[in-house]
Amino acid sequence: MQAPRIAIVAPCYNEEQMLPLSIPVLLRLLDDMVATGVIAADSYVMLSDDGSRDATWAIITEAHKADSRIKGISLAHNRGQQAALLAGLLTVREQCDAAITIDIDLQDDPGVIPEMVRLMREEHRDVVYGVRASRDTDTWFKRTSARAFYKMQRSMGLETIYDHADFRLMSRKALDMLSAYGESHIYLRGLMPAIGLPSAVVKYDRSERAAGDTKYPFSRMLSLSIDGITSFTARPMRLILVIGIVLLLIDIAVALYVLMSYFGGNAVSGWSSLMLSVWFLGSLVLIALGIIGEYVGKIFIEVKHRPRYAIKERLE
Ligand code: UDP
Ligand code: MG
Repeated sequence: MQAPRIAIVAPCYNEEQMLPLSIPVLLRLLDDMVATGVIAADSYVMLSDDGSRDATWAIITEAHKADSRIKGISLAHNRGQQAALLAGLLTVREQCDAAITIDIDLQDDPGVIPEMVRLMREEHRDVVYGVRASRDTDTWFKRTSARAFYKMQRSMGLETIYDHADFRLMSRKALDMLSAYGESHIYLRGLMPAIGLPSAVVKYDRSERAAGDTKYPFSRMLSLSIDGITSFTARPMRLILVIGIVLLLIDIAVALYVLMSYFGGNAVSGWSSLMLSVWFLGSLVLIALGIIGEYVGKIFIEVKHRPRYAIKERLE
C-alpha cells in the first residue's frame, strides 16, 4: 500500500484559545509524516466548527488562507461533539484513504498517529482505537464514573473499548460502512466496534487541556452516556418485563403468607384482600409494560434502518 492520504478530523466548539496552539502542532505533524513517507503529501486537517459563538470560525478561515491543508466546515448550530465529528467524517470520506479523529485540545497524544497509520498499512486494520494507558490525570470522580459507565454499557450488551474516547483511525472502508448508518443519535464509540472490522489498539498518555475550558460539563457527559445506551439497545425495557415476572413469583410467597395470617386469625379485616391485590396488580402492570416495551423495542430497532449486514471481504 502506498502512502495513504490522511484527513485529521477535529471537532471545535468555542476553541478560540486552543486553535492557535493546535493548528501549528497538527501542521508540523503532517510535515513530519510526509517527510518520513508515512502519509501522502496531500493529507490535510478538517476542522469541524460545531456552531461556535466565539472567533473559532474566523481563526479556521485565516488558517485555511495561510495553508490550504487546513480545511473546515461550519455547522449552523451547536449539535454536540458526536454530530460535529460525524459531519467532518462524512465530509472527508471521499477525499482520503483514512480519517483520524482527535479533540482539538490535543489532550490525546497526536504523537501516536504514525503508529495508527502503520497498523493500518502493515497490519491491515481498518479501525485503530486510541486507548488511554492510565487515568492518573483524571479526578477521582471522573475516573470512577467513567469506569461505571463502561461497565454499565457492557452489561447492556454494547461492545465498548475501555478508556477509548473519540481518538481513532478509520480507514476508507470503515468510513463507507459508517455512512450506511442513517440514525440521528450517533454514538461513534459504540458504533465502530459494532461495525466489526479488523481493529487494533494504540496506548497513549492523556495530558491536561492546554487552554480554554472543558466543553463537557457533567450534564453533557451524562447525556452522552444515556445516548450511548438508548441509541444501541432496548435492553432496559426488557428489564421491566423481567422485574414483572420476578415480582409475580414473589407474589406466590406473599400470597401464602397472607393466607396463613388470614386463616390463623391474626390479620386485620381488609388487609388480606388489599395485600393480595396490590401485589398481583403490581406485577401484572409491570408485565404489561414489559410486553409493550418489547414492541417499542422492535420499533426502535426498525426505525434506525441500520444496514442489515456488512460485507467485510469480497472475491469476484
Ligand atoms: N466539542 C464540540 N461540540 C460540543 C462540545 C465539545 O465539538 O458541543 C469538541 C471540543 O471542541 C473538543 C472536543 O469536542 O474538541 C472534546 O471536548 P472537551 O475537550 O471540552 O472535552 P473533555 O476533554 O473535557 O472531556
Ligand atoms: Mg478535552
